[in-house]
Amino acid sequence: MKPDLFQAPDYYNIDELLTDEHKMVRDAAREWVKREVSPIIEDAAQEAKFPESIIGGLAEIGAFGPYIPEEYGGAGLDQISYGLIMQEIERGDSGVRSTASVQSSLVMYPIFKYGTEEQRKKYLPKLATGEMMGCFGLTEPDYGSNPGGMVTNFKDKGDHYLLNGAKMWISNAPFADIAIVWAKNEEGRIHGLIVERGMEGFTTPETHNKWSLRASATGELIFDNVKVPKENLMPNKSGLGAPLGCLDSARYGIAWGAIGAAMDCYDTALRYAKERVQFDKPIASKQLQQKKLAEMITEITKAQLMAWRLGVMRNEGKATSAQISMAKRNNVEMAIKIAREARQILGGMGITGEYSIMRHMMNLESVITYEGTHDIHLLITGMDITGMPAF
Ligand SMILES: Cc1cc2nc3c(=O)[nH]c(=O)nc-3n(C[C@H](O)[C@H](O)[C@H](O)COP(=O)(O)OP(=O)(O)OC[C@H]3O[C@@H](n4cnc5c(N)ncnc54)[C@H](O)[C@@H]3O)c2cc1C
Repeated sequence: MKPDLFQAPDYYNIDELLTDEHKMVRDAAREWVKREVSPIIEDAAQEAKFPESIIGGLAEIGAFGPYIPEEYGGAGLDQISYGLIMQEIERGDSGVRSTASVQSSLVMYPIFKYGTEEQRKKYLPKLATGEMMGCFGLTEPDYGSNPGGMVTNFKDKGDHYLLNGAKMWISNAPFADIAIVWAKNEEGRIHGLIVERGMEGFTTPETHNKWSLRASATGELIFDNVKVPKENLMPNKSGLGAPLGCLDSARYGIAWGAIGAAMDCYDTALRYAKERVQFDKPIASKQLQQKKLAEMITEITKAQLMAWRLGVMRNEGKATSAQISMAKRNNVEMAIKIAREARQILGGMGITGEYSIMRHMMNLESVITYEGTHDIHLLITGMDITGMPAF
């Protein structure tokens, strides 16, 4: 792969909207990605292996629980810092960002928000350092966009719960030490349980042959009469709103992350277009290529402003789930379109692993589907503005 020459575009001086702390956190993550992710990520993706060697580094830049209070091992940062970290990591690779998103928003967040003090103390500090890794099991073979229909269930057996069912498409599952599992009780109410690797009847087979997020490990969670101790149920929230609350936090991070992937594609294409000569002139001097590049930077700038404003509202506790859906949907589509256009600017070179663009493009095919598909987020906006659900 070519050396990482990334220069972040900031057409509207959005840096002026950031505090010194935001910039410090962002720059540390940016440097780390350049140093530790860029040199190894292409091979990891080609080999379809999650690069476990970067777990410690992710923890050091605050990617595991950026906004979890320091007393539980988190970085105690605000929502904009969290977003900027996700942006920088996804600039490297969406699969690496997926690992960080899951650990932070789908594992640490529910334990922090819905768990007991004992659960917080037991799991959060180890999750923050990466000593323990987690995954989040909501999707099932027959219930993807409609997770409320889930059939995974647990029964009260007096001194423990008995868990049965299966989850699929679970990021981090093959190596996770714990799984946050959403399952129905005997009354059909959804609860979150912390299931630990090693519990009898719990297995996590890996999903192979992905053309997307190849540097992220994906798998199933299978529960065959798993005895879960009663103290592993998170008591402070139940119903579908509990997992959806976690998804709000993760989707917000994706709205920022997608900008990172788009920035990398744009920056690569701009540099290539200035250097590549055809018909005796750099292709950047041709109107057709300028149209592509000009539209890219316009869309990136709009997405940056949207993410920043959403971050301000999240800091104030005012961002709605529907507002988060709009940003996730817009920014991921923006990124995937930019990846496709950037790929064309590189001509044949665009399909090789010498450059990051094709990898970003394939990764974004998962990002546009997971954490609520592109269609589902549109339906959420539609419902929000009309008051009429069209699911
Ligand atoms: C790489 C990867 C990692 C993932 N990681 C996780 C994870 O860690 N944890 C987890 O729980 N899940 C995870 N997922 C699952 C992901 O969230 C689901 O794939 C997603 O929610 C969509 O579900 P589905 O694939 O079953 O598609 P379906 O729900 O079957 O949707 C198929 C198509 O139908 C459309 N559709 C569905 N309902 C409607 C409707 N009402 N109106 C119009 N169109 C509709 C969808 O938009 C889509 O285009 C992951 C998925 C992938 C690919």
